[in-house]
Amino acid sequence: MSDAPRRFRPGKEYKVILVGDPCVGKTAFVRRFVANQFDPSYKATLGVEYSSKVVEISRDLQVKVNLWDVVGQERFRAMTRAFYKGACGAFVLFDVTDEETFGQVVTWKKDIDEKVSLPSGRPIPCLLLANKIDLEAKVSDDTLQQFAEDHKFFAHVKTSVKKNTNIEVAVSILIKEMLRLDKEGFMRDAKKPEGSESTIMLTSNPSESTSISCPC
Ligand code: GDP
Ligand code: MG
Repeated sequence: MSDAPRRFRPGKEYKVILVGDPCVGKTAFVRRFVANQFDPSYKATLGVEYSSKVVEISRDLQVKVNLWDVVGQERFRAMTRAFYKGACGAFVLFDVTDEETFGQVVTWKKDIDEKVSLPSGRPIPCLLLANKIDLEAKVSDDTLQQFAEDHKFFAHVKTSVKKNTNIEVAVSILIKEMLRLDKEGFMRDAKKPEGSESTIMLTSNPSESTSISCPC
């Protein structure tokens, strides 16, 4: 059989940002999701790290998720606008063993809402991740639930990157929400004519799949 592309496959490509205080598990989350690896040692991220993975949603639809892991240090906060540009969704992480990182979630959410929105002008969907649930949590489930509602997170998920708990679930919840918003037209710039996004042919091997259409 030839290596020529077999068929057209409709798809989507979304930029997703990860934010939260240093040491909450952002880089670990990306490594677990993309490469299924976990490193217990801590190496601070410098600036921004970028990874991507193609997720098969169904036989006929695949989504390429471009994950931007933004450094959590306060002194880089001024740079976040450039990193957020074009984002279609966000994970906001905190460490359940560290109440200070939970307190900072409000600041991160505000930072996102002030600096980026969907092309339609609507806020980007934010999923709150309560990470490190393999350790003793200092934030109760009720507090978490109420907090997520009060601060307009469309959902929250308790994760352990270490134990690989709910990582794929969290990504799939965010992808589904982005697809929903896309379908309802919120990812589209009202000024651009409908269907102006490009669709390209993908190869038969999903690992070689590249850019599809980016609504952002
Ligand atoms: P970042 O600064 O937010 O990118 O944090 P990292 O991803 O570098 O993680 C900080 C530290 O927390 C590292 O030592 C990780 O191994 C550890 N870590 C990340 N996720 C978990 C988790 O779910 N459970 C536990 N116990 N440790 C974790
Ligand atoms: Mg990091």
